[in-house]
Amino acid sequence: MQPIFKADPEKLQALYNSGMTQTELAAHYGVTQKAIWGFMRRHGIKARIAAKRDQKGSKNSSWVGDKISYKGAHNRVEAERGTPKFCEVCGSSDSTKRYEWASLTKNYSDVMDYKRMCKTCHVNFDKLMHPRRRLSESQALYVKEQIKSGRKQSEIADELGVKRTLINHIKANRSYKEVGN
Ligand SMILES: [Zn+2]
Repeated sequence: MQPIFKADPEKLQALYNSGMTQTELAAHYGVTQKAIWGFMRRHGIKARIAAKRDQKGSKNSSWVGDKISYKGAHNRVEAERGTPKFCEVCGSSDSTKRYEWASLTKNYSDVMDYKRMCKTCHVNFDKLMHPRRRLSESQALYVKEQIKSGRKQSEIADELGVKRTLINHIKANRSYKEVGN
């Protein structure tokens, strides 16, 4: 039995309202989706009405939904701290480059936990933080959701720019075992 999940209800609600899904919240807090669901029930946090997944392109629509909601957390940072226009790591402010908010310690709910980085520095930063990891935790979770929804492994691999064997390892629970469990 897992101990009962405790969190700040206001914070969790804010994250949920920012567009994160229950699955994403589960990954964020390191608990199961069921725990999030139970917590929301106990604290009277209304669940969104599930998207109509049986409509045309069902798998696709839920996929797009998750993508938008994943963006939710980052959009919140943008809303509060603006669009990054320079890199705090290499100092570049070349307007032809792309700049992103990079999460420093995966504390996604904290808008101050992000630093402005150019695409290159962001990728290097992630490699430094997770030297042997090809995918971030949220990406691994996304892969698991995609596998469950029946999407082709090759498609997922192509989308994320990784080898199919990695997707297969995730499916067989040989990689990223702890993510989402
Ligand atoms: Zn940079």
